[in-house]
Amino acid sequence: MIVGILREIKANENRVCMTPAGVETLREGGHQVLVEKDAGLASGFPDSAYVEAGAEIVAEAAEIYARAEMVMHVKEPQPSEYPLIRPGQIVFTYFHFAASEELTRAMMERRAVCIAYETVTDAHGGLPLLIPMSEVAGRMAAQEAAKYLERAQGGRGLLLGGVAGVPPATILVIGGGTVGTQAALMACGLGAKVYLLDASLPRLRHLDEVMPKNCFPIMSSPATIRELVREADAVIGAVLLRGAKAPKLITRDMLKTMKKGAVLVDVAIDQGGCFETSRPTTHQDPIYEVDGIIHYCVANMPGGVPLTSTLALTNATLPYARKLADKGWQRAVREDGGLRAGLNIIDGQVVCAGVAEAFGLPL
Ligand code: NAD
Repeated sequence: MIVGILREIKANENRVCMTPAGVETLREGGHQVLVEKDAGLASGFPDSAYVEAGAEIVAEAAEIYARAEMVMHVKEPQPSEYPLIRPGQIVFTYFHFAASEELTRAMMERRAVCIAYETVTDAHGGLPLLIPMSEVAGRMAAQEAAKYLERAQGGRGLLLGGVAGVPPATILVIGGGTVGTQAALMACGLGAKVYLLDASLPRLRHLDEVMPKNCFPIMSSPATIRELVREADAVIGAVLLRGAKAPKLITRDMLKTMKKGAVLVDVAIDQGGCFETSRPTTHQDPIYEVDGIIHYCVANMPGGVPLTSTLALTNATLPYARKLADKGWQRAVREDGGLRAGLNIIDGQVVCAGVAEAFGLPL
């Protein structure tokens, strides 16, 4: 198969959907790989590395769309790309269709085969192509909390781990899934005292067994949150209710009970945020202050560390890309039910229930 690797053109997106190592793997499978010029530059991969791996560098996205049977991206195709997509062409990327009727209708019109990273499932019903980005965002959340607790950044002037004879910072992590667990692990590693809240008892049992001694997994409730935000130097919001907006777990009133210069990192901002005072921010302008509390609410945290994120993402996507290229999409989805769950649009028809529901389209 001819596989096309496109350069990201969405604002502030520095990741690339395949590394040179990934190209090598596809080449081993007998596939031809076209890489758009400078596609990997912002992630640290020059064109020469792709050429060494066996790719052909192509100057224009239009040529890739014209020649490739499957094109890959990180973000959804942008409007300038819509007319380039050909009927029956596989487009494999993050689409998040339910967030954009325009994109959905454009892909229906182009009669593309749209396979969305975010709805591919694994054998346990997990979302294997979303997990790596949650891991990145979680680890980064602890790093951002540490950074904005520094005085020069407006924070309380506190070191996460303290030093001998000086107590560490207290971090409250709300949500003990992928993001929360990774955030807690990083904060614990730096020596902080970490409260890790989750609403699921089986999950708390697991966390109790595996987390380090300076992590305290606790059942989440409004009363517990009210009590612990007073003590916290930083709070990391990492809850998820699948298919729903994030619940507002910290209200504006509660900010008044917090220590001045404390930090709120709302990782759940892409689902609307779990603090009442959260609004989306960018890597260029990541924080703002409300009632003396610093808010960090970057909606695309992994985009801030494209090198790590690209490697993490391609580790997860490559086996699927290889399967699609080796077998063609029909056979690949027949043999892998999890990959079938990634199919969102085929030949002008929406085949994903969530997307059809979002826009009142027939399934
Ligand atoms: P996950 O499903 O692995 O974990 C969510 C956890 O929240 C679950 O364990 C669940 O039991 C728990 N939870 C639900 N309600 C709760 C409550 N009231 N109190 C405490 N815990 C509660 O999800 P995840 O992958 O860890 O993602 C967490 C959030 O981070 C999501 O909103 C996701 O979209 C977001 N995210 C944001 C970025 C970013 O760049 N900002 C990147 C990745 C993920």
